[in-house]
Amino acid sequence: MISWAAREHHRFEAAGRPFVYLVPSAAIFALDDTADDVMRRLTERPYTRDELEAELAERHGHAELEDTIAELARVRAIGELIVPGADAAPPPKIFPLTPFPLTTMVLNVTNQCNLACTYCYEYSEDKIVDTENGLKPKFMSEETARQSVEFMLKESGDNKVAHITFFGGETLLNFPVLKQTIAYARQRGAELGKAVDFSLTTNGTLLKPEIIEFLAENQVGVTISIDGPREVQDKFRVFHNGTGSYDVVAPKIQELLKRHRSRPIGARVTLTSGPLDIKRIYRHLTEEVGFWEVGFAPVTTSPGRGHAISEHGYDEMLGQFRELAYEFLEYSVENRHHGFSNVKETLEEIHKGMSKAFPCGAGLGLMGVATDGDVALCHRFAGSDAHKLGTVADGIDRNAQHAFLEKHHIANKTDCSTCWARPLCSGGCYHEAHTRYGETTRPNLHYCDWIRGWTDVCLQIYGELSERNPAYLAQFDEPMAAERVS
Ligand code: SF4
Ligand code: SF4
Repeated sequence: MISWAAREHHRFEAAGRPFVYLVPSAAIFALDDTADDVMRRLTERPYTRDELEAELAERHGHAELEDTIAELARVRAIGELIVPGADAAPPPKIFPLTPFPLTTMVLNVTNQCNLACTYCYEYSEDKIVDTENGLKPKFMSEETARQSVEFMLKESGDNKVAHITFFGGETLLNFPVLKQTIAYARQRGAELGKAVDFSLTTNGTLLKPEIIEFLAENQVGVTISIDGPREVQDKFRVFHNGTGSYDVVAPKIQELLKRHRSRPIGARVTLTSGPLDIKRIYRHLTEEVGFWEVGFAPVTTSPGRGHAISEHGYDEMLGQFRELAYEFLEYSVENRHHGFSNVKETLEEIHKGMSKAFPCGAGLGLMGVATDGDVALCHRFAGSDAHKLGTVADGIDRNAQHAFLEKHHIANKTDCSTCWARPLCSGGCYHEAHTRYGETTRPNLHYCDWIRGWTDVCLQIYGELSERNPAYLAQFDEPMAAERVS
């Protein structure tokens, strides 16, 4: 007799009703009472149809039960289990077609910084590349930047838009090259019939009227790395002499926000150990400073460092993220803007049904370019010979790229093979894994509870929105514009 079993899924509740997130397809379904009863039974153990009938037909009726089983089977929430365990066959290893077009190039125009943030992955004990005594130039030359533009325009293939993000060190230390690169990329893009979109990340210390004017005029997207109010910012984000940076950056950011109105300006907060008050940081940066949106990321660090977030810290962070996410929900139900970008980004991935073979675009749609023109997985690996994927002069080394993708596919991460959050997490950031375990291939098992907890919160928000304001979700119907640069 054939038995039925639930396929891999995660059940959650939103808007007072149950939902399932189906892991193999990354699809979401709301369940009625009958479907919920069937799914619950089949999650506990395999059932034959007769057993299901015996337990559920009286309550739900034969016809209703039959229809529900058929519907759940159609959406592949349940399946026939002929040999126990057969449902757990390893997923096929699917690779993107190559050559995969480059969507986003992150140009590290300098590896130098005028701040000395204690937790910085580029300068602290966790650094991958020696930017002080190494062989890499401290600043990218105009010539290398031009070659990088040519590289990007070529490697972006048939994409209509190429995204160039300027990064550092402190990006604005090399403003002259940034400025020339934008002019050159515009001209070359126009010649080739391709639009070029520009953005940058900066610590804000070097902003001044002419730079702000240039960024506004050229519609350059700006993300400011800032940790919050003075006492939070000055804890780690300090100058080389140890003084805090808040009083220097705050007025400059105000000026930027006043004059640069052509693109929304975002803040990027690094969360560290110690008492967390995410709501206060959020309120300060949006209501008091005026940022359009704020994204939070836990610090990337090896364990044992003073600023590393503890297990308890992750729990605390999750609780506070949840509160802010529910505030986001209430705003979104009323079609009011809320700037908590972490939840919006995850909602978009959920809506698009993303099921990732790789955690991010690094080495695929996104690459980082070091000051000498070496191309690496992403900006955080730029300049690392061990993570090199080519040069802007010679192009992408397809063999190295293929070997990287082969090695880092989710199918190789056996620890993740039974995790319901893997369609969205896929093992997590390679840089975090490298810092934590010395190996980009390792899944980030130290933060699984946090990832699953946060994904569950976002699924709830998604379920709530799908019931209370489904029109809100329509904004995610468009294809993703660019790879995210974290
Ligand atoms: S790293 Fe952890 S949370 Fe992420 S997919 Fe793997 S097991 Fe799941
Ligand atoms: S998630 Fe990590 S590996 Fe991926 S692009 Fe961001 S920093 Fe690089």
